[in-house]
Amino acid sequence: MLIPLGMAPDTEVAAGVIGFPVRHSLSPAICQAAFDKLGLDWIYAAFEVAPGDAERALHHMRSQGMAGLSVTMPHKADVAVAVDELSPAASALGVVNCVARDGERLIGHNTDGAGFCDALVADGVELAGIGCAVLGAGGAARAVVAELARRGASEVAVIARRPDRAASAAELAGSAGTTASLADIGQYRLVVNATPVGMAETDGAGKLPLDPSLLHSGQHVAELVYNPLQTPLLAECDRRGVPASTGVGMLVHQAAHAVRIWTGFEPPVAAMTAAATAALGSR
Ligand code: NAP
Repeated sequence: MLIPLGMAPDTEVAAGVIGFPVRHSLSPAICQAAFDKLGLDWIYAAFEVAPGDAERALHHMRSQGMAGLSVTMPHKADVAVAVDELSPAASALGVVNCVARDGERLIGHNTDGAGFCDALVADGVELAGIGCAVLGAGGAARAVVAELARRGASEVAVIARRPDRAASAAELAGSAGTTASLADIGQYRLVVNATPVGMAETDGAGKLPLDPSLLHSGQHVAELVYNPLQTPLLAECDRRGVPASTGVGMLVHQAAHAVRIWTGFEPPVAAMTAAATAALGSR
């Protein structure tokens, strides 16, 4: 039996997020806002699940008849092994960030890449046929690289400090995948920061992941870091007239996919964005 954080133990929870730690997660604010706006009498909760205990959480989901789970660190790979079936995106990446029911079966999805691309499309970026540079080769970068290729990007170049990890991430883009160096970023229509550089309360806080003098107004920069909302990279883009997207768009749109999968309803993205922004602002 899992106990929902900050709620009575016997609260009837429809969906929730598992992670460790999980207290910092914005998913409860974003998904509860979606359920409320949709007029659903659903409660979304956070569950602190210790490393190695993901299977117990899936058992809880089954036994309590929950509609879905969001999955965050450190459970994404364990859940991919424990579910009954994987979506094509989750199967390609080997990690799951969303679990849904199909009758008695649990299906593992990965909505990060689709959420990232949907956020860019909402910001008016055309993805088909463009060249993209993705900085970083970790979990988020891998999801972004795979989906950019799926959406028809002509080139997806991974730029990372460990060549083996860069090459492995680039493989996810198939024939569009390649590796490049930071000096090349001026050549790409889309530049994505999928490193934690710029993130508050880390070694990268206040820092830039690239040389901003290489950016120009014909490009679009996508930031994945959302804490702080205005990162040093986004401030440089503002200063130089380079169009850019914050990390909140991906955060909201990956949750929007989950809400659509769980409820079957079109997610209220504006209400979810407002909830995410308010939750970030209150930190
Ligand atoms: P991760 O798996 O730890 O990968 C981080 C990547 O960045 C690795 O390739 C790492 O290189 C590289 N890196 C770390 N520090 C660096 C530095 N100082 N200089 C250059 N490269 C560096 O992390 P992740 O899960 O992919 O997350 C990356 C960022 O995206 C985080 O800030 C996270 O909060 C954000 N994110 C946002 C969303 C959203 O919805 N907006 C979703 C997911 C993640 P090494 O392997 O060499 O260490």
